[in-house]
Amino acid sequence: MYVFCFAIVILFFIKFFLSYKFVVSNPERPNITSQEAWDKLLKAADENDTDDFKEALESYAKVTPEETFVTIEKKLRSANSKGRIISFERPEIPLTKVLVDLQGNTNKRYVATPTLVHPTRLPRTSGNRANGPEENLQWLADSGFMVDDRSPVCFNCKRKGHITKYLNVCPL
Ligand SMILES: [Zn+2]
Repeated sequence: MYVFCFAIVILFFIKFFLSYKFVVSNPERPNITSQEAWDKLLKAADENDTDDFKEALESYAKVTPEETFVTIEKKLRSANSKGRIISFERPEIPLTKVLVDLQGNTNKRYVATPTLVHPTRLPRTSGNRANGPEENLQWLADSGFMVDDRSPVCFNCKRKGHITKYLNVCPL
């Protein structure tokens, strides 16, 4: 009888632990399959809804961590979707921003921009575009979304990662 009660208690703890771990390791993972997320992405492009397209792209990327801007752009083309991910080269990235790819790598060179408008119709202020779809794919391999960067900025040399307050000389 004691063994039985003990087993029940152990099982209860295992169940609790498993559900707790699941919640912690999936804080933002959308509760949809990759196919559902992909269908949503195509639907948003068909319906010409740019905001939905951007949102659907983010949730698709979350449920398919192995997909990159390059593989998603290729899939969009094969699906004949008008949705595109275009890379832009900016003369300067604001110090308070950082370019992060879908795998979380930072310090990317180009700005990845999901769009439903033909690239030639995008405003000049978005930056320089690649010369054609093939070069765009090459740029996408080194692209990221522009997001807020919370790392410290040095007021002396205007670079990130250190502040002069605690250093007399800026690192090289
Ligand atoms: Zn400095």
